[in-house]
Amino acid sequence: MSATSLLEALCSRDSGANDPLTRPSVKAVAWARVSTDMQEERGLSMPEQLREIHQYAVKNDIEIVAEFQEAASAFQRDEKRVEFKRMLSFVRADKRINAILVHDFSRFSRDSVKGKSLFRQLKDEGIQVLSVNDPGFDPDTASGVWMEAVTFAKNEAYSREIAFHTRKGCRANVQQRDPETGWCYKNGGQPLFGYKSVQLIRGEEHKGKPIIKSIWVLDDTIVNGRPVHEWAKECLKMAAEGASLDKLRDFCNNNGIPARRKNYWGSTTWNAILQPAVLMKYCGIEVWNVHRKNGSQRPPEEWTIVENAHPALITEEEAKAIIAARQTKKEQNFDSHNRHRQTSHYLLSGGLFKCARCGENMIGYHNMTNHYYLCSSQTKHRGLGCGAGLHVRQDETEAEVFIGLHRMLRECSDPRGFTRLVNEELRNIWEQANGYDPQSAQKLVEIERRFENIRQAIVNGLDDITWANAEMQRLRAEREALEKVTALTGKAPQLDVKAAMAYREQIEHLLAQDDPATKRAIIRDCVSEVRVYPELLEAEADYKFPMPIIKIDPGAYGTEVYSDRRNSGGRI
Ligand SMILES: [Zn+2]
Repeated sequence: MSATSLLEALCSRDSGANDPLTRPSVKAVAWARVSTDMQEERGLSMPEQLREIHQYAVKNDIEIVAEFQEAASAFQRDEKRVEFKRMLSFVRADKRINAILVHDFSRFSRDSVKGKSLFRQLKDEGIQVLSVNDPGFDPDTASGVWMEAVTFAKNEAYSREIAFHTRKGCRANVQQRDPETGWCYKNGGQPLFGYKSVQLIRGEEHKGKPIIKSIWVLDDTIVNGRPVHEWAKECLKMAAEGASLDKLRDFCNNNGIPARRKNYWGSTTWNAILQPAVLMKYCGIEVWNVHRKNGSQRPPEEWTIVENAHPALITEEEAKAIIAARQTKKEQNFDSHNRHRQTSHYLLSGGLFKCARCGENMIGYHNMTNHYYLCSSQTKHRGLGCGAGLHVRQDETEAEVFIGLHRMLRECSDPRGFTRLVNEELRNIWEQANGYDPQSAQKLVEIERRFENIRQAIVNGLDDITWANAEMQRLRAEREALEKVTALTGKAPQLDVKAAMAYREQIEHLLAQDDPATKRAIIRDCVSEVRVYPELLEAEADYKFPMPIIKIDPGAYGTEVYSDRRNSGGRI
């Protein structure tokens, strides 16, 4: 059976009751959402989403009674999704409305656990969430359960998919050669020192917009009496002869050569320029896909290499000479920059620490006196898409993260109190995710009490039996509704006391050794994310319970993979 026919078989419209094509009179609200995060994740604009929703509604005979839309960030807490809440209460208040129309399920919720539980909750209330672009499914059928799992899992992978497509597009671009100049096209970004970018108009898009491609040529801007590309060539010659990073930095500053990003040249800039991948570029070779999004280098076999992509400034022999000179320097441990690198550790680097304003990673950055974390939009695209750069002190931030971690571990010193606390919290989170009302048990007791009162009143000779009947009827309905949400299947994930105690002892011991690599590993085990809010000058950390100490009832969600729950397991 092929994947397509399997999909068709799984999505077969055998459950006619839920098929919008056959169900009579569907009244719906239209819901559109755009993300304010990174541009490539924004997806379709709101008018475009609404246009597709309306088209779908006309085709399927659905009446749209209201439209709601919201620009939200994936980093936003749920309580801030004001419009989403307004839409839900609007839908719930009007009994005639039985559907919410969305462009795709990722517009409804990007969190698969919460999305799924809300989806089911609404269905129980008689409200369907219909997606214009996802296949329809009924979560009450076996095939529906699979489709639901797949659909929501897909939405979580959405941003990763987008990144992949973008990269694919760029890869094709760097390998494309301009027919007129013979040079390869560039993907944007600042050209190397010694080069300038030239924009070329190459045809038109279907809407008449010109297609603009860029190539690199030698930068012939005159600075201090010589073209910039000659200055660059001279610097590289000096590097091949063994000039230190500091010497190169001073040479550029003293000759008034404009620096790339900052006002003045730094030795870090020169260290970056003298890396193998960059030196290859100086040989006229395009090297692309060298770094990951978090700044770390990919293995060379993953690089995309295109020869003769732009004019060469140095020969391959010169490049080899530079590498050899750098190697000698490293062995002498002479460069201040290298000494620096060995002692500098940013424990939260590599994607754990995020800028809440733009969603980019906070990366390590230092000046002469201090180490900071800085939104990577500042170095990657000069703050575009974010805002004025906020320098967050490395020592203070990491100290706060460890204080929070110690606080969590201190709770461990009281095993009964700790596990009770945590297991209560885990139970709360789990219940909320499943639409459970924590007040329901109390409410049920109250209902039973009122039943008893009415019975007693009748025994005592109450004459308004019509009222008593109506009241009992109302209470019965209320009780039925409450019992429905009380009957949760499965168990909330719980902490394993023994494992937690053992883990805590181990962590305290490891932290005492003060080894950066170990500290880094512990942080990765216990911290799910740290965010900084530049406008508020505040940072917030989410802690998680390490996997080995969590007991998960396999019956809780049937055969579903449940591991992602641990990330939201511990907000202390
Ligand atoms: Zn930012």
